[in-house]
Amino acid sequence: MVQPADIVTRFAPSPTGFLHIGGVRTALFNWLFARHNGGRYLLRVEDTDRKRSTDEAIAAILDGLDWMGLDHDGEVVYQSGRAARHAEVARGLLEAGQAYRCFATPDELAEMRERAKAEGRSMRYDGRWRDRDPAEAPAGAEPVIRFKAPRDGETVIEDHIQGEVQVANAELDDMVLLRADGSPTYMLSVVVDDHDMGITHVIRGDDHLTNSFRQTQLYRALDWPVPEFAHMPLLHGADGAKLSKRHGALGVEAYRDMGVLPEAMFNYLLRLGWSHGDDEIISRDQAVEWFTLEAVGRSAARFDMERLTSLNAHYIREADDARLVELIRPRLSGIIGTTPDAAAEVRIQRGLAGLKPRATTLIELAEKAAFYAAPRPLELTAKAQKQIGPDALGHLSALARELDALPEWTEETLETVIRGFVDEHGLKLGAVAQPLRAALTGKTESPGLFEVLAVLGREESLARLADVGAAPASQEA
Ligand code: GLU
Repeated sequence: MVQPADIVTRFAPSPTGFLHIGGVRTALFNWLFARHNGGRYLLRVEDTDRKRSTDEAIAAILDGLDWMGLDHDGEVVYQSGRAARHAEVARGLLEAGQAYRCFATPDELAEMRERAKAEGRSMRYDGRWRDRDPAEAPAGAEPVIRFKAPRDGETVIEDHIQGEVQVANAELDDMVLLRADGSPTYMLSVVVDDHDMGITHVIRGDDHLTNSFRQTQLYRALDWPVPEFAHMPLLHGADGAKLSKRHGALGVEAYRDMGVLPEAMFNYLLRLGWSHGDDEIISRDQAVEWFTLEAVGRSAARFDMERLTSLNAHYIREADDARLVELIRPRLSGIIGTTPDAAAEVRIQRGLAGLKPRATTLIELAEKAAFYAAPRPLELTAKAQKQIGPDALGHLSALARELDALPEWTEETLETVIRGFVDEHGLKLGAVAQPLRAALTGKTESPGLFEVLAVLGREESLARLADVGAAPASQEA
């Protein structure tokens, strides 16, 4: 048994595309398992497919993990840099008689594939060079090195999530370890790296289960300790099919760009296939405290954008105002066409309390906050413009005079004045509130009007009223 503090996990993405949320969830579970036990969590970039691995993809992966706060221990390991070590291990197996040179030609392999297809099973190399003398090899042919896999018995894995799983060894063929050009295969590299990095627990998607049987055989042949395995059910879309782009399985950065907070993504992915009683809102610290592999469910978890959005709304409400201002500033600047000045920043910060409960993403928050920051004169939407007819303008001007005279500018005093004004003139509240809202926000929807006035402050409110022609002075002129 590995002592908790000696636990070492890893996340091993292939940088051939974006870091999709299934990958982030794998990273999250590895991170949590290590942090819960006081062990270590390592990061290995499996960039052996040099043609398909790109620097942009690597940068996006590192960035996405960083955004999620999944800090790794030690240096990032790049698998491509370890090819010589992988080849050395393959040659060691060859010398020990645990592997052999295979000279099967592409035609022979194609034939095996055809036969398998005709028989409705998956391709299995038939082992024709397993016991054959390499001296019989065709001249000049470059061999691959294949693993001499056990043929009898079973390979059994005590999986932390799947329970006991096994395969008949006859089902697994002699896999290639080293290609003819001397490059190592994934199956070899992953075993050597996990061993050399001291990985004690391999936690990954259950699409790797067959690989784990093969890798277990390889560990045994090498006489290396076999790590413990935990195969997580894959993510599925709301329709039950394996998660794909069609379901919105985007790169994690796409969710950031949609205005999702990392703590919402963290909580969301955590609950996707892992539970702790009925708890839905789970902080990072609680997750570290509570996480166990035993509480990971066995059935496929479904990705549900609505659930993510509602968690995001929760975390927006909880977030620190100054942080939110930082997060929405770039987008806000884009909407209002300029960087908010100091007074505008103060207004946004004051307005956030009322805006936070109304936003489900940072994008929405920025959109809703924009009117507080917008430079004067405001651009009114066509609908807002319609609210300010001649009658309305008359009311607004008269009201502006009363507001101007108000000794104290608070939500309460503003409400008293406005309600008094409406009563005095025998109006409905809406007859004043709607044009007032249009003039102050440029829109027909906003947080409560008294709140908007209080947040804008006396000077800005009266100036916005004056901009639509409802200045106290213009009434007198
Ligand atoms: N690089 C593999 C992948 O992205 C993962 C390998 C592993 O976790 O063992 O699917």
